[in-house]
Amino acid sequence: MTLRGKNSGTQKEQTIAVHAGEFVDPVTRASSPNLVMSATFAPTDVTGFSARDEKDYGGFVYGRVSSPTVRQLEQKLAALEEAEGALCFGSGVAASHAVIAGRLSKGDHLLAQDTNYVGVAELTRDTLPRFGIGTSFVDVTDLAAVAAAIRPNTRMLWLETPANPTMQICDIRALAELAHAKGVRDVVVDSTYATPIATKPLNLGADFVVHSLTKYIGGHGDAMGGCVLGRKVDLAALNLEATVHFGGILSPFNAWLIMRGAATLPIRMKAHQESAMIIARYLEQHPAVSRVFYPGLASHPQHEIAKAQMKNFSGMMTFQTHENGLVVARRMVERLELVHYAVSLGHIRSLIYWIGTDDIEKSTFHHEGEAAKRYRGYAGDGLFRLSVGIEEGEDLCADLANCL
Ligand SMILES: *Cc1c(COP(=O)(O)O)cnc(C)c1O
Repeated sequence: MTLRGKNSGTQKEQTIAVHAGEFVDPVTRASSPNLVMSATFAPTDVTGFSARDEKDYGGFVYGRVSSPTVRQLEQKLAALEEAEGALCFGSGVAASHAVIAGRLSKGDHLLAQDTNYVGVAELTRDTLPRFGIGTSFVDVTDLAAVAAAIRPNTRMLWLETPANPTMQICDIRALAELAHAKGVRDVVVDSTYATPIATKPLNLGADFVVHSLTKYIGGHGDAMGGCVLGRKVDLAALNLEATVHFGGILSPFNAWLIMRGAATLPIRMKAHQESAMIIARYLEQHPAVSRVFYPGLASHPQHEIAKAQMKNFSGMMTFQTHENGLVVARRMVERLELVHYAVSLGHIRSLIYWIGTDDIEKSTFHHEGEAAKRYRGYAGDGLFRLSVGIEEGEDLCADLANCL
C-alpha cells in the first residue's frame, strides 16, 4: 500500500487528511476505501507460522496482528501527526494502557499531571501500583515542581494538553526537554483535545502521542477507538506486545468509520473553533456565568502557551455558573434542544456535562493539600464541560441561554 501525502512533503493538511492511507483498489477500481472484514489471510506461499514478512499483501496473517482497513487508518493518522507510525486500539484507554504497560516494568516510576482524563488517572493511581509500578502526580504548569518530582527510576512522564476537564495547558517542548535531560525515557502526550490539527507533540520533543479516536478524529460519535503514534522501532515492539499479547485491537469496521471521519478533521476543527469562540465570548459576558476556560480567550491562565502551541483552539471549554451547577444541569437535561446533555466530546453535535468537584475528587483524583486547592481553583464546586460541535455558534448560544 502506498502512503500518499506524507512522502511527498508538499501536500497540505486537508489534502493529507483525505488521501493519506487511501488508494484505488487494484482489483475492483473502487475509489473509496475497502472495509475488509477478515480474521485471517491466506498467504500466497508457505511461510513461517508468523508470516509477518509475507510480501504479497503487506504481511497480513491474522487480524490481531494487523489488518488492512486498520492499517489504512494508521497510515492516515501517522501522516496527519507527522509520525513515523501509528498503532490503533479498541479505545483511547486501551491505547493508553498499551503504551503504559508496554513500556513500563516493575520498579519503574510514572509521573503524571495531577488532573487528567479520569480513566487514565484511575488506571495510574489504582491499578499500576498493584503491578509494582510507582506513580505520582504533579502540577505540570510548574517546571520546578516537575523537576523536583522526577526520580532516578522515572521512566515515563504522562502529559495531557489541554487537560480534561480543567482545560489546563502545559508547555510540551519545555517539559520534554526537562524530562529527557533528567533521564526520563518516554514523554507521552494525550493530545485528544488538541488533535494533530492544533498541535503535533512529536515535533515538540514528545516520544509518544495518544489519541482517543472516539473523539475529534472519528468525530461523529459512532465508533470507539484509540491510537498510539511514535517512532517505528518503538511501535514495532508495542505491536508485538500490546496488540498481539494484550489483544485490545480496533475492529476494521470502526477503523473504516474513523477513517471516513478523519478525512474531514481539518475542516471540522475549523468549524469547532469558530463556534467555540462565539460561545466562549458569549458566556464570558453572560451575567449568570462566573468563569469560562477556553484556550482562545485572553483570560485563559495559559493563553500564551496555547497561542504558541496550538494552531487551532479546538471546541472544548469549561464554565461555571453563579447558581448551583446541579440545579442548572437539571434544567439543561429538561430544556436543551440542540446540545445533548451527555458525556464524551469531539463530536459534530454539541455535548455538555456537569462535573461536580466533590464527586470527581472522591471517585478519581483524591487530591490533597495544594493539589486539592489547585483543582478547586480551576473547578470551584464543579464545572460544565462543553464540547462545541460544528453547529452555528449563535444557535448554540440561544440553546444554552434557555438554561442559564
Ligand atoms: C475520552 C478520552 C480518553 C479515553 O478514550 P476512550 O476512547 O473513551 O477510551 C482519553 N483521554 C482523553 C483526553 C479523553 O477525552
